[in-house]
Amino acid sequence: MSILNIPLYNQNPIIRQKTKEVADVKNSEIQQLILNMKETLRAHQGLGLAAPQVSKSLRIFVINDATSAQSKTVFINPKIKRKSLGKTCEEEGCLSAPGVYKSIKRSSSVTIEAFNEKGEKFKLKAKGLLARVFQHEHDHLEGILILDR
Ligand code: ZN
Repeated sequence: MSILNIPLYNQNPIIRQKTKEVADVKNSEIQQLILNMKETLRAHQGLGLAAPQVSKSLRIFVINDATSAQSKTVFINPKIKRKSLGKTCEEEGCLSAPGVYKSIKRSSSVTIEAFNEKGEKFKLKAKGLLARVFQHEHDHLEGILILDR
């Protein structure tokens, strides 16, 4: 496992691009990328990390164990299926923009559907911080930063 470089957003040419779906979850390069992303997130003590932040234009994000629900920490080809109309505003930071904090209004709860690292599909309903992390990381897959919100 290795810790990947997280370039600053303005030094990352792909961070504002929409990412591509993962075609084969079991591909060894994808499996290695997931392990390295988890290790990188742990090293930076972040809440979440999306593949474009480590210069891979793919629809993958990982979240930390403490924030996760039902031990789900790897989200591949995720789709936000439902978003609550009720919104809350909280300050967010981003590993691609250290030192920047911005108040962002987001849905208070969301339902997400994704594949895990074994290629199994699952669905999860989240509220509070976890719902916020899902929306932040999903934004990364669409090429959107908190600076754009
Ligand atoms: Zn971020």
